[in-house]
Amino acid sequence: MKTSKALVRMMPASEGRESIASHMKDILAELGEDPSREGLLRTPERYEKALRYLTSGYSTDLGQIVNGALFTQECDEMVVVKDIEFFSTCEHHLLPFSGKMHVAYLPKNKVIGLSKIPRIVDMFARRLQLQERLTRQVAGAIQQVLDPRGVGVVCEARHFCMMMRGVEKQHSGTITSSMLGAFRQNKDTRDEFLSLVSR
Ligand SMILES: [Zn+2]
Repeated sequence: MKTSKALVRMMPASEGRESIASHMKDILAELGEDPSREGLLRTPERYEKALRYLTSGYSTDLGQIVNGALFTQECDEMVVVKDIEFFSTCEHHLLPFSGKMHVAYLPKNKVIGLSKIPRIVDMFARRLQLQERLTRQVAGAIQQVLDPRGVGVVCEARHFCMMMRGVEKQHSGTITSSMLGAFRQNKDTRDEFLSLVSR
């Protein structure tokens, strides 16, 4: 069994530390609920399991995801994977935000297996996040793995902390982007990407 630092951190509560589930019982009581009623009896454990899944990206390793799926290829045309659905958790309110991510890069004789890109998105989405940071981290990871001529990432999301509480705006979306290399320096490259993903 692997015992990297990140994995240890994500393991269930060790001895002497209370589990998330036991705290949830107190939280339910604090809300005026009866944690011992039938419907709530196993809710603390279910919540802990869900929360650990939603933050499992902390213990995911970029090298493991890529796992050799890099291929030498004479290719200098833009590669775009659009409409990658993702679900993440806002670090300010611990509420979900979700949407679509569009990822593009300009290869420098090296391409990555296309299915790996959504897995890289999930790796960063399954953490406590800010949309801005999530967008930047996905771009940074593609840059790190492929060393391409450029990377472009656009992220469109809706935040439950805005929809269900606070300003209660159900239809407002937030768009963030991160452009590296040629996508930042070259307007034509950036425009090509943006026109491909806005279709
Ligand atoms: Zn929030």
